[in-house]
Amino acid sequence: MSTIKTMLELPSFPVSRLAPTPNGELHWGNLLNFALTWAMVRQRGGKLWLRFDDIDRDRCDPRFAQDTRELLHYLGLDWDEEFSDQPSRIEDYRRFLTPFPQYVCRCSRQEIVQRTGGHYYDGHCRNLKHNFAPQESAIRFRSPMTPARDFILWRREDLPAYHLTCVHDEEKLGINLIVRGEDLLESTTVQKDLSQSLKSDPFKSITVFHHALVVAPDGKKLSKSRSDGDLLRLMRRGTSPKEIWTMFGNQWGVTELRSASDLLTLLPRLQSLCGVL
Ligand SMILES: [Zn+2]
Repeated sequence: MSTIKTMLELPSFPVSRLAPTPNGELHWGNLLNFALTWAMVRQRGGKLWLRFDDIDRDRCDPRFAQDTRELLHYLGLDWDEEFSDQPSRIEDYRRFLTPFPQYVCRCSRQEIVQRTGGHYYDGHCRNLKHNFAPQESAIRFRSPMTPARDFILWRREDLPAYHLTCVHDEEKLGINLIVRGEDLLESTTVQKDLSQSLKSDPFKSITVFHHALVVAPDGKKLSKSRSDGDLLRLMRRGTSPKEIWTMFGNQWGVTELRSASDLLTLLPRLQSLCGVL
């Protein structure tokens, strides 16, 4: 059922993005996301961006961005244009922040934990009219629904928050298709909230698919920090793209997979096996 639904809802000219954060090595979960996104776009002759979520200069490293380009190239996953260096666009993000209903919050993480257990924000600063001061305060979205959805738009570090850069970049790049792991379901909800408060409502014209996550043998989510990402090591050891795609296909029971172009025909099966919805 999910396959049929997917085919019906895919934009006729998909514009999508691979959006890695260059802060560690790529793992099999990243590859699943790239493979699905790439195939959905290429199957319909759409446009694919390679976008680096690299706003955190301290946590990101250009070396990881270069590794990503190399690995994608090696595996035959091409892209049409690159969008990177978010720190150079700070003023764009600052302008983008202006129309959102917002307020300044001075609460520390510890204070929020003391008041609410840390599971949600209680709107403490909603009517306090603080002025923003970097390192001392953050800027929150004033949700039309509940203070528990007053997510941070601008961080104490005087940087845009992930949700803000995301909504900005999707709009700027004309994205109409997002494919992401089910761990980002909550992010999708937040970003739709933010989008709806803008006149342009960029998410109105975006189809978002979520897929299952690749889990480590111990059942936990893969992450870059766990060093599960042995894709680069495989590449550097000379493991052929065909062998890597075979290993990937075997993880999902798509045992005929041998190359990126095979994804185009095997996409419906891969989608249903990893629960794209
Ligand atoms: Zn506050």
